[in-house]
Amino acid sequence: MLLDYNSLLLAVGFSAACLSLTLFGTWLTARTDKFLLTWAISVMVVVGEVFVYDAYIAKPGPALGVATLALLLLGFSVMLGASHQFRTGRSPLPRIVLGAGISFAFTLPPMALGYDGLGFISENFFAALLLFGTAYEYWRGRREAPVHLIGVALLYSLTAASFVLCSAMLVLGGKLVLGHAPSNWAEDLNLVIVIAAMTGIGGLSLALNQGRIARHHQREAQTDALTGLLNRRALFDLHGKTPVGAFTAVVVFDLDGFKAINDQYGHAAGDEVLKVFAAELTASLRPNDIAARMGGEEFALVLKRTMPEMVEATAERIRAALAVRTIETETGQMRCTVSAGFAFGSNEGVSFDKVLSAADKALYAAKRGGRNRVLDFRRAG
Ligand code: GH3
Ligand code: MG
Ligand code: MG
Repeated sequence: MLLDYNSLLLAVGFSAACLSLTLFGTWLTARTDKFLLTWAISVMVVVGEVFVYDAYIAKPGPALGVATLALLLLGFSVMLGASHQFRTGRSPLPRIVLGAGISFAFTLPPMALGYDGLGFISENFFAALLLFGTAYEYWRGRREAPVHLIGVALLYSLTAASFVLCSAMLVLGGKLVLGHAPSNWAEDLNLVIVIAAMTGIGGLSLALNQGRIARHHQREAQTDALTGLLNRRALFDLHGKTPVGAFTAVVVFDLDGFKAINDQYGHAAGDEVLKVFAAELTASLRPNDIAARMGGEEFALVLKRTMPEMVEATAERIRAALAVRTIETETGQMRCTVSAGFAFGSNEGVSFDKVLSAADKALYAAKRGGRNRVLDFRRAG
């Protein structure tokens, strides 16, 4: 034999154990992405398989045979579950149960009955199927980070293909009963590919996870914690530097008599009103509109490709919806109104700051005019 199969197998076992511990450690520090834990478990199950398989090679028999096949198929089913969890955030369980259930049903009985050749053919076949399924999950999720995820999908596919070869070699051999672990060039190649793929997949996936954490922090820094809207800084990051054109409007809202609401019902009730209003804003937006909480009880909308009549109608709809709404809080029911002002950019382009302060002027004219109303800057006087 060109390679010492046993040393290679142990190398797989130890590097898989290291990967599993790394994944587990990464999960422990963040605790956000549960798929890391599922994946760590799947790799640990495969580590168990490696050591049971090593014992099987030394002393073949149905009991160790069934154990080694079951562990490998379970490990790969959990891996498939982890990949689904990675892509969708949903529970890995259905895929684990289905993957292990079906592959066990075809693989374990022949091994238990002494048809080890058939058992290994089936094991390699289902291992390939589960790994192709895993590759497909990462492929489907590739938009998140195309280079990394396509790389991961390719490495899983390569590994799956090497299991197909193992299965094919046994089919060609045509033996239903082997009496020992399969041993041929496909098995050797399989181990080499597993080691290489595992290293690659481990590195790529940890980089992916770092990317997710970074994006999570960035989102947090841009989001107002109370309402979930963008915060002032995010709004300026998005719009602060580009001149505002003639068909883009900025609307500013300021809740009326909000200090009195806080004084009468308490700060928590005030927070509830802010959340209700934020939800009202979000509900009336088109996909490309932007809503932000500017601070306190002040909010802003940026509406693109629009006209004064449409902006007025939108702001008016939001104002009217809030005015008739009864808000439930722990300290009682209440109503609240809102005033709004809006302004447009121009054909030459106006700085975002200028449009915002024009909208602010309209807002204060609305306040002076008696509150609970919407005013256009051009008519604010
Ligand atoms: P006006 O009709 O003129 O807008 O009067 P107002 O009382 O709404 O305006 P004012 O600026 O005097 O009061 C704003 C209040 O908003 C004061 C502040 O305590 C309250 N506030 C600011 N941020 C928050 C918050 O996050 N939660 C709560 N509950 N209150 C807040
Ligand atoms: Mg205010
Ligand atoms: Mg106010």
